[in-house]
Amino acid sequence: MKLFDLTGRVAIVTGGNGGIGLGMAKGLAEAGARVAITGRNAAKAEAALKELGPHAFFVEAEVSDRDACFAMVEEVARKAGRVDILIANAGIANRKRPEALTEEDWRGLLDINLSGAFFCCQAVYPHMQKAGGGKIVTIGSMLSLFGAPFGAAYGASKGGIMQLTKSLATAWAADGIQVNCVLPGWIDTDLAVGARAQVDGLNEHVLKRTPAKRWGRGDDLAGIAVFLASEASDYVTGTAIPVDGGYAAQS
Ligand code: NDP
Repeated sequence: MKLFDLTGRVAIVTGGNGGIGLGMAKGLAEAGARVAITGRNAAKAEAALKELGPHAFFVEAEVSDRDACFAMVEEVARKAGRVDILIANAGIANRKRPEALTEEDWRGLLDINLSGAFFCCQAVYPHMQKAGGGKIVTIGSMLSLFGAPFGAAYGASKGGIMQLTKSLATAWAADGIQVNCVLPGWIDTDLAVGARAQVDGLNEHVLKRTPAKRWGRGDDLAGIAVFLASEASDYVTGTAIPVDGGYAAQS
């Protein structure tokens, strides 16, 4: 269906070499986009590229480094000719109580999750503006909405992402650029494996509290990526959409 057809579009998915990013990248590739995945781990990317088909490619980039974000976007534009879609997904988690967070923990997490996403958005803007439009998707979290005892740094970054999304959406709407945020629930990725190892009883909590009664999978994010990257969402901007098996819908 043309509404969701991404043929001829070029997408960047930061952190697309695994987890949620790979699930979204697979959706975009299936809808016809040429996908550039980024990350730090080239070996992991090799496996991801096998799932994405012959037109996808990998660009190594550390998102907390602003220059690296701009260089990555330029490399994608040089290789693929244009940049139409950005999924600013790369991120890390930290599960320390606020009193235990070091300055390095705090700055390191915000540098990656919040500043990294912003730098990538800044870097794609001139390409999208020149082309007369584009689609940006940021990745928040349930902790964009709720508090948690272990969520001071992570929640601050993800609350910030949601507000950043709204500001960019209002600033760039007249350029034909839509900016929306996806709020994943509990998705079974490497990040979640780390969380389960650190938080006692997390698996039971997720299964009990998620109305869908299961963890999400990276592939559960494919559909929302295609919607927010395609013409189907041309009048949708500045929103934050949970993809969480109903987690955020309950009190
Ligand atoms: P993963 O750990 O599986 O993936 C994270 C990705 O981000 C990796 O591909 C990693 O690449 C990349 N990345 C991390 N740090 C950097 C960095 N400094 N520079 C460049 N790339 C980096 O986790 P998820 O797929 O779960 O997480 C993806 C996003 O979804 C994150 O923003 C996370 O906060 C968010 N999220 C996840 C939830 C979950 O339950 N899993 C819930 C809500 C939100 P590499 O391995 O090469 O370093």
